[in-house]
Amino acid sequence: MDNKTKQQILSKLPKVDALMAEIDIPDCPHSVKVQACRQAIDKARRRVLDGEPEAGSPQSVQRNALALVEELMQPSLRPVINATGVIVHTNLGRSLLPESVIDAMTAVACGYSNLEYNLEAGARGSRYSHVEGILCELTGAESALVVNNNAAAVLITLETLAKGREVVVSRGELVEIGGSFRIPDVMARSGAVLREVGATNRTHLRDYRAAINENTALLMKVHQSNFSVVGFTSAVSMQELSELAAEHGLNVFEDLGSGTLVDFSRYGLQHEPTVQESLAGGADLVSFSGDKLLGGPQAGIIVGKREIVDRIKMNPMNRAMRIDKLTLVALEQLLLLYRDPAAAVKKIPTLKMMCSPYEEQKRRARRFAARLRKAVSEGLTVEVVKTVARAGGGALPLLEIPSAGVSVKGPDDRFSAASVERSLRSTKPPVIVRVEDDSIIMDVRTMADSEFVTAARCIAAATGEIK
Ligand SMILES: *Cc1c(COP(=O)(O)O)cnc(C)c1O
Repeated sequence: MDNKTKQQILSKLPKVDALMAEIDIPDCPHSVKVQACRQAIDKARRRVLDGEPEAGSPQSVQRNALALVEELMQPSLRPVINATGVIVHTNLGRSLLPESVIDAMTAVACGYSNLEYNLEAGARGSRYSHVEGILCELTGAESALVVNNNAAAVLITLETLAKGREVVVSRGELVEIGGSFRIPDVMARSGAVLREVGATNRTHLRDYRAAINENTALLMKVHQSNFSVVGFTSAVSMQELSELAAEHGLNVFEDLGSGTLVDFSRYGLQHEPTVQESLAGGADLVSFSGDKLLGGPQAGIIVGKREIVDRIKMNPMNRAMRIDKLTLVALEQLLLLYRDPAAAVKKIPTLKMMCSPYEEQKRRARRFAARLRKAVSEGLTVEVVKTVARAGGGALPLLEIPSAGVSVKGPDDRFSAASVERSLRSTKPPVIVRVEDDSIIMDVRTMADSEFVTAARCIAAATGEIK
């Protein structure tokens, strides 16, 4: 194509105003239309100059403008279908909230509330009062405090109790949990001085004892949430550590990581240490996440001795880590469900997904497969497969939860699982799947029944070209 032809095509490209008049999408803000039209015209100009005359056609420019409008109108944070089988998937938003929690959040979000107002006294109240009672009731702690997340809980605890002084931690517990949270780094930021003891695989009580000096502020235990040391290992129990601490007038703080209020070993899963056990073992203070295995909103929960929790409450940092009212109402409603543990396991989605038996998942996978076979082209093979689901969220790293899913594969020459996986990330809603041996694998354990129809439609769209 010579320059003259190019210039001719360019001169016929629509003007922004003219193109805008052709875009008839109700509720589309003016500014979005302008942006989309400008970008569509610019794109057409570039492509024509690159030697693609058809990119300058009115239809092509208009099509692009419409696609851009749609893209710009789409919110950035939006729901996806998690078909990965990773239950507390940090990248996909960790825990799903139970219905009663969402209802309570809606009510508080739409109107005023007694967030910091004591209705009985008709005077200012404390926002923390709404969850402190139930946390103490459930865990047996004297006192409780909640902040934005467990990372904040660890930071404020160390800053309050150990700034400028030493904190003794086993070398086997210097965890990195991802997202740049490392115990040694957080310790440094808090102003506390890390005093490592023991070896990666073995730490003994005598190691802690030898490290204690006049500058020791705290003994700390960190749950090895996302890894496991096996073989020739030894760790000191909370019981032993708290006895040692008491001998020296020190406190023990445990960062439980995920933390849970239910004993998973009762449901045929591995044991994950519970908050109650840590406190019963003698921990003076325990911190854990609200949105890992607890199954609630993002929060950092601190429970323990009143005198210590009070000091943390008074720390000015607490104001900077203050939990908002929506999280607070969600957390209270969630905790109320734990009063009846058997019901909690059925109503809290994270617990339900963790504890649901394999047989049930297999039945669900069969239903999803039947749905899927009706939706996709006949050339694709849809099968029920056995899968391994995971707790995720840095909890129970070795636990393999027997689960079921559906695999989709196609005629070898025309099906690429990698490219279907990519397409599925832009369907509405996106479906996040695993790829294994050039098949798409969808684990139903992390999918809701109500998502089966939608997911089938998305798979059909993503594989539409394959016959
Ligand atoms: C996950 C985790 C944290 C951080 O908790 P967030 O709620 O994600 O901030 C801290 N410590 C341990 C051991 C963890 O597993």
